[in-house]
Amino acid sequence: MVCETQILSYDYLVVAFGADKMKHKGVENTLSICGKPEISLAIRDGLDQLIEKGSGKIAVGFGGNPKDKSAVRGGPAFELIFNIHNLLKKKKLRQNFELTFFAPMEQPGTRMGQNALPMLNKLFDRYHIEKRFGKKITGFEPNSIVFEDESKLNADLILFIPASAGHRVLQSSDLPLSDAGFIRIDNFCQVHGYSEVYAIGDIAAMEGPEWIAKQGHVAELMGRNAAFNILETEKGSEKRKGYQESLNILCVMDTGDGAAFVFRNDKKSFLIPMPIVGHWMKKGWGTYSKLTKVGKFLRLPGM
Ligand SMILES: Cc1cc2nc3c(=O)[nH]c(=O)nc-3n(C[C@H](O)[C@H](O)[C@H](O)COP(=O)(O)OP(=O)(O)OC[C@H]3O[C@@H](n4cnc5c(N)ncnc54)[C@H](O)[C@@H]3O)c2cc1C
Repeated sequence: MVCETQILSYDYLVVAFGADKMKHKGVENTLSICGKPEISLAIRDGLDQLIEKGSGKIAVGFGGNPKDKSAVRGGPAFELIFNIHNLLKKKKLRQNFELTFFAPMEQPGTRMGQNALPMLNKLFDRYHIEKRFGKKITGFEPNSIVFEDESKLNADLILFIPASAGHRVLQSSDLPLSDAGFIRIDNFCQVHGYSEVYAIGDIAAMEGPEWIAKQGHVAELMGRNAAFNILETEKGSEKRKGYQESLNILCVMDTGDGAAFVFRNDKKSFLIPMPIVGHWMKKGWGTYSKLTKVGKFLRLPGM
């Protein structure tokens, strides 16, 4: 038995049940866009209430996991605050709202590459979004975020994406875990010490350059590699595919009135602004991704 979920017998096991969220004191006073799908409706309702009131303070942020720098999810937090800005602007209410972005690192977004930082800063300045960076978050109270120096940031609506940590089920398993609780694997996604067990995606302790991030396309790549490696093992071949040589950051960051295409690997990093069209591309990607996942549309090779 590998973990508390009962497994009777297997030839090969691929573990892929994602990550858990880091627990912050009072986190129930916040809403996360990376939580259950219903939470997106609560975020919508919270925004609608403030829009109806006509003014307010909104804080959006994300946390970090000091034990695993890849376990952060900043992209959706940036997207959320830029989209909120554009929504309020469209409703001609922006001047009545105070928007603040908070994160414990000195330069959130730095893993997207040095070219991304000036662009992010430009957007924060252009959209008049306040910044609270570089202070550890110690907890949340109703309507405020508390930092390590005991200072507080007050807000009517707090939208926060906690960093991720290893899935709680793993704690009672025999699998080798990193300090942050993720499963230790080799380059071929094979779990250390278990020749028939593979771990892929957010649940795995990824190793690589300091900018690596747990992303969906990396999870898919790891899944394809694990399947290939299992098949080759069965054939008795020595061929293997590793995830580390193909690591990259790839994201289209929607701002509500456009988007930024961000790419980074070990050779290059760039950011291409895509005014107007980028927003529609990201929406189109969402529809394509959903339809292909449920088998209602053909998946294009490599996408
Ligand atoms: C709002 C948001 C935006 C994102 N944007 C991007 C992006 O633009 N680009 C990108 O590349 N990545 C993005 N990501 C990250 C991406 O979604 C993840 O990296 C990816 O989903 C990881 O895949 P996974 O299969 O490892 O885990 P998951 O997708 O989390 O899948 C794990 C599955 O296991 C199930 N499960 C959990 N516990 C158990 C259990 N005990 N037993 C059985 N099943 C269980 C879960 O219900 C879930 O279905 C985003 C994430 C969020 C939340």
